Amino acid sequence: MDYQQTIAAAVHCSGIGLHTGSKITLTIRPAPPDSGIVFFRTDLVGKRKVRATAKSVGGTNFATSLIGDGFVISTIEHLMAALHGHGIDNALVEVDGDELPIMDGSAAAFSYLFNSAGLKSHQVPKRYMQILKPVVITEGDKRAALYPADGFALTYEISYTHPAIQNQRFDIVVTPQSFQSELANARTFGFLAEVNLMRESGLANGGGLENAIVLGNYSVLNAGGLRHPDEFARHKALDMLGDLYMAGYPILGRAHGFKSGHAMNHKLVMALLEDKKAWRLVDGRPNRNAVADERQAVQVQAT
Ligand SMILES: [Zn+2]
Repeated sequence: MDYQQTIAAAVHCSGIGLHTGSKITLTIRPAPPDSGIVFFRTDLVGKRKVRATAKSVGGTNFATSLIGDGFVISTIEHLMAALHGHGIDNALVEVDGDELPIMDGSAAAFSYLFNSAGLKSHQVPKRYMQILKPVVITEGDKRAALYPADGFALTYEISYTHPAIQNQRFDIVVTPQSFQSELANARTFGFLAEVNLMRESGLANGGGLENAIVLGNYSVLNAGGLRHPDEFARHKALDMLGDLYMAGYPILGRAHGFKSGHAMNHKLVMALLEDKKAWRLVDGRPNRNAVADERQAVQVQAT
């Protein structure tokens, strides 16, 4: 039996918001069993808490946003991915602005904080959302899907005409170890032309080469290049991991994204939650060997 986990001590970081460009401080605190991931706006008075669930998602334009009682918290997906990836079930996330700090555009800073503080087990069984039958969302050639599996695996495929991206596929069996080594440091990306347009609409004011991969017409403009040759597909897998955690529980199943973004990932989670025959909550992982079995299955698929 595996148990629910929280962070062992409070951790803090500061950075700028991608869209507002303002300085934001983030504090992640331990939280009791069965409380889930709760966000808390410390700069407002009144009811300021909102639990991270699909029903609280209020926007999926360029980022995933939560809507509370009269307030918003945007760009939560990279932190949600880190919480999902590290196996953190319960945490209180305090933020003093309307978006999370973008840090370096990946989840590496959050992963570092979790490792620095360590995790604490609650001695309460970990509750998973086990996928029982396929749930598939399609829009044109885009696709986001969940399938039954004993472990948690994720495949993401990306297809761009841009010469630096083209077709990339990334497969991962998600564990705290694989999350940290394969996904955590994959950065978000944007096209220079789009970044300029977004700035004209008041977005991406904090965006730049220090917190995103920026693509010119032909190549990556960041002086250091890429962290992985397929960093784009890895980042989209990271986004999907974060968006799936809005189901409210860690997933037991296989996720597949093909050109899907936050909006489709959200639709997938909503479709899953609405179909009560597509999932059940289980206490503890049914078969611990499934991770090894799935790693093999994923490798077979990838060939
Ligand atoms: Zn992202």
